Amino acid sequence: MGEGLIGGEGFAVDASVIEADASRFARVEGDEIDWTEKQRASRPVREYLAALDGEVSPTNPDRKPKAMSPTDPAAAWTTRGRHKVMFGYSLNYLIDMEKAIIVDVEATPTRITKEVDATETMITRTQERFQLKPDYIAGDVAYGTAEMLGWLVGHGIDPHIPVWDKGKRDDGTFSREDFRYDRQEDRYICPNGKELKQSRLAGRIAKAKPPKDGLLRYRASKGDCDRCDLKMRCCPKEGARKVLRSVHEEARDHTRALMESEAYGQSRVRRKKIETLFGEAKRNLALTRLRLRGLAGAKDEFLLTATVQNLKRLAKHSTIPPPRPICA
Ligand code: SF4
Repeated sequence: MGEGLIGGEGFAVDASVIEADASRFARVEGDEIDWTEKQRASRPVREYLAALDGEVSPTNPDRKPKAMSPTDPAAAWTTRGRHKVMFGYSLNYLIDMEKAIIVDVEATPTRITKEVDATETMITRTQERFQLKPDYIAGDVAYGTAEMLGWLVGHGIDPHIPVWDKGKRDDGTFSREDFRYDRQEDRYICPNGKELKQSRLAGRIAKAKPPKDGLLRYRASKGDCDRCDLKMRCCPKEGARKVLRSVHEEARDHTRALMESEAYGQSRVRRKKIETLFGEAKRNLALTRLRLRGLAGAKDEFLLTATVQNLKRLAKHSTIPPPRPICA
């Protein structure tokens, strides 16, 4: 920062998979391991078992792992690495796009939900450590979840991230975007001009406590749908049409509007700098397979790698080129 290498306006986030120091051939199915005393004595297993009792699960709590490594249980069984299947950790970078300086780094098991969670951790930590908060952040569609966009917009950061939209239908029936939202009345208007509302009770409950899945449910009246000529294009298998709306829909709409801007187009190009850093880490710094085990081991190796990459850029920036020879 002292050398003026940090712009502080635009950050980018991404993750790359690094193979764990765990053989893919010595795996056990599922997560039911009867740990031996010897295994329990090893640091990665001790750390993993301690994390299981903590607040944040070391694995993806919604999905039981298909396979687990008895030597490095926190590593995730993944198809996203350089082998067809392997155990891996994700190297998460948060960079300042001006000169591709890494402002924070985090290790997570290779799970998209964990990578998205790491983004919040890195942004918060960077703000606390360096009083640096970007105006906008660029990332790929994996970071475009409603929760992530809601969090970013809520913190005054513009997401230059494609919206992850699951509301699109490909069976020829109307998608959510065919329904117009009327903010004043908190209702949707369908292509036939009828309204879809939340039930009064559901609306009151949602206001007091947002639903667990973050989705509000708007329903058309069965009478309207029964009489409608468009029913076969709308809800052929249901009595009445239902439209789901995320509690973060306003943040998603804000992001959609940003996607049309010139700045968003520029961020899409500039965020490729993060891929160059991953390529450099793997090709030039030999970070293809970890040497240390456990999440703590991965964190240490990732932090060292990121430090080396930043020092290289600092050295390049600080080097004064030799004076040109004067020709007679
Ligand atoms: S089926 Fe119902 S929701 Fe769909 S267009 Fe007709 S009235 Fe509207």
